[in-house]
Amino acid sequence: TLTIRSSSGEYPIWVGANIRKQAGMLLKDILSGKSKVLIVTDRKVGSAYLTEVSEAFAPFLPVETAVLPAGEETKSFTQYENLLTKALEKGLDRQSIIVALGGGVIGDIAGFMAATYMRGIPFIQMPTTLLAHDSSVGGKTGINHPLGKNMVGAFHQPKAVLYDTNTLLTLPDEEWRSGFAEMIKHAYISNQEFVELLKKKVQSISDLKSDQIKDLLTRSIQVKADIVQDDEKESGVRGYLNFGHTLGHAIEKNIGYGGLTHGEAVVIGILFSMKVSNALQLSAWDVESEEKWLKELGYPVNKHKDLSHKELIETMKKDKKSSKGQIRMVLLPETGKPMIAAVEEKVIQNVLADK
Ligand code: NAD
Ligand code: ZN
Repeated sequence: TLTIRSSSGEYPIWVGANIRKQAGMLLKDILSGKSKVLIVTDRKVGSAYLTEVSEAFAPFLPVETAVLPAGEETKSFTQYENLLTKALEKGLDRQSIIVALGGGVIGDIAGFMAATYMRGIPFIQMPTTLLAHDSSVGGKTGINHPLGKNMVGAFHQPKAVLYDTNTLLTLPDEEWRSGFAEMIKHAYISNQEFVELLKKKVQSISDLKSDQIKDLLTRSIQVKADIVQDDEKESGVRGYLNFGHTLGHAIEKNIGYGGLTHGEAVVIGILFSMKVSNALQLSAWDVESEEKWLKELGYPVNKHKDLSHKELIETMKKDKKSSKGQIRMVLLPETGKPMIAAVEEKVIQNVLADK
């Protein structure tokens, strides 16, 4: 178990095989004195795991369920309203508790619903994707606005995170690859030993589908936990978690969401950030050798080359982290030593053009 400090107290993170079936038991103290639990999930996750998870809570509390469509479009005002309606109809009160059973989409919308229902009720994260090892920790919740992703939200810390590694076994490979990018990110911004470990243990995506996933996940979550504990509301070091994301987000936007997974775009962004660090003579990355491993894992490391560099740059200028048209991004002088800096457009242009 890991424990995370937050402004609303400490919360435990359990990672383990098949622990979904002991959810009620493990969460006994948190559930005690509560009136009802509403388990929120999506259709895909629900069809595989909702019955078991409901049964795990049933001995402890009355259980209600809400099953939303799968996919990013679910993080909408409409689905948010549907969820509130369901909660009101089922009589959830301020003593009720929400369980988010699913990937980052469900964690974000169910967490946001919990943050705002009757001015805030507690919630529990039960992540079922690899990517959600990132999204379920740290307390960011929210939905999308038609004009922008994650534009509406709240900080709301979960009471616990219960991560059943066995649920990952039904994930499609592309979701494993997408989520693994965040683990790679966590390794590069934390320490060389973690990077080496990943390179040694993971030569293909299927290497992840083994007992070792528990340890790798625990380490990766620890990196995120250390950062968000130091900077819960994002004023400083939390920005390091955006490593690879400035170009990554721009690629996702320009290629159209769905053209690449989030993690694939982030990996391109990680390599780009190394190249920019080299161009600024902050580092001496052997980018080709870093690239080699990532290519072998199936990441399309050159996909951005088909996109308009001009448009990518324009999008990067509009990034949340940039200001006054200056591109700010996370650079990496060496493993474990990220820094945030404004980078001149000319440098970005040259690096994109491989000059
Ligand atoms: P997701 O929740 O849409 O899950 C991906 C797909 O996998 C979905 O189709 C889902 O139904 C399916 N799925 C989930 N678990 C499964 C399982 N065990 N077996 C089979 N299929 C399964 O997406 P995601 O990649 O987990 O999360 C992406 C979202 O996370 C984005 O909306 C992003 O903005 C958000 N996010 C939030 C934070 C944060 O700090 N709050 C951080 C990073 C990302
Ligand atoms: Zn990400």
